[in-house]
Amino acid sequence: MAVFNHLPMGQEGLKEIYRWLDDFASKNNAISYKKVLGKSPDNWDIPAVFVTNRDIPDDDKQIAVVTLARHGQELGARVVGPEILHYLTSDDAKAIRDTQLVIVVPVVNPEGFILNEFHSSQTSLTKTERLVLGRLFKAYAPDMVIDFHSLGKVEGSKYDRGDLEAIIPANTTRWAMDEQIHYYVAQRMQEAAENAGWPYEIHTLEDLAAYKFAGREIGNMPYTYLQEKLYLLHMMDSHDNYDIPEEAAYTNYTCGPAYEKWHTLVFGMETNHWGITEPGDIAVSGMVPCSALLKMGTTRFAWEKDRGYPVNILHGDFRISLRPLGKNAAERRASRTRIWGERMYFNLPQREMPDPETTITRVRYFGADLPMEFALCLRMRKSRIKSLTLGSKEVEFETFKDRCSTFVYIPLVMDRAGTIELMIKHPPG
Ligand SMILES: [Zn+2]
Repeated sequence: MAVFNHLPMGQEGLKEIYRWLDDFASKNNAISYKKVLGKSPDNWDIPAVFVTNRDIPDDDKQIAVVTLARHGQELGARVVGPEILHYLTSDDAKAIRDTQLVIVVPVVNPEGFILNEFHSSQTSLTKTERLVLGRLFKAYAPDMVIDFHSLGKVEGSKYDRGDLEAIIPANTTRWAMDEQIHYYVAQRMQEAAENAGWPYEIHTLEDLAAYKFAGREIGNMPYTYLQEKLYLLHMMDSHDNYDIPEEAAYTNYTCGPAYEKWHTLVFGMETNHWGITEPGDIAVSGMVPCSALLKMGTTRFAWEKDRGYPVNILHGDFRISLRPLGKNAAERRASRTRIWGERMYFNLPQREMPDPETTITRVRYFGADLPMEFALCLRMRKSRIKSLTLGSKEVEFETFKDRCSTFVYIPLVMDRAGTIELMIKHPPG
């Protein structure tokens, strides 16, 4: 049984969901609390429910944000939020509560909800979203954001109507392997959904463009496809901090600008309220990939030093990268945000092997945010490092492993712009 086995509609439906949220927060007050983030233009509250283990300091936790129902007529998104909240109280979610602060915003757009109309934007955040989410993210810069939508009989896709459910890792880039990382995570979400009986697709920005803008005539697609991809990429505004007043950014999903701003892991989701006829099934089919994602946030990804969402390769690739510093999640988040904002002022970090027992590595920073603090991280074939030196000086480092290699993590401080060159001595491969 799902939490909601019907689709709440109109004012009464909104009130019903809001009553449920109040009830949830009071019943589960050891692990949750409700905050009103702001008001819709017609003066409805926009509440969020925070779920976490309140005995563990928030600074030790990742911040995960789930937003739903920004598009008023996408009915499926109405029932997924309560289902996720319900899941978060379960034993299965204990590790999530211990290591994350999960913030669920079940109805981003109450006005659209009541009207049962889109009442939103496909190309930018609305003024209300900027106010409400801007305020939230200012206090809680997210490590992960997932934004739920829902496809119906004709809404959304122009070429595949009525039955599609999709995970959209669209608002990312190819910088620092991010596209690969988002797809890796999306595939694991898809797998979890399929194991539970829900056939999801993973769709790209290009696929998404075809849903929204492409022509329906047979034979029309390829050209429109390309044209719209270019349009969308040009519309992505890397300066959108959830605070620019109007327009100009491509953002079908509320999570879009978070990637650019905080290097957040971001997913759009499309559940389905036509092909799936039972509202309880819609709720569960939305909850399952979300819970898989939240669970991944409690684990350590093979290439990451610490457990949490895989958002810490800020430049370079898996073999050589720039990483944040910090002894807890909050410090790493602040360091990540700072380095990410300066990423254009680093050269691509380099490595070379003059002989099989020596690796030389270089990083250049030419920005003005000094002293610049970051870690340089190299993936090595052998686990033993004989020495790591800068000129004649030994340099401190840490190591962590994946299944078949060792990562050397080297904290560095640059007091002025320039190049750091380090020499690593190791056994031959
Ligand atoms: Zn939508």
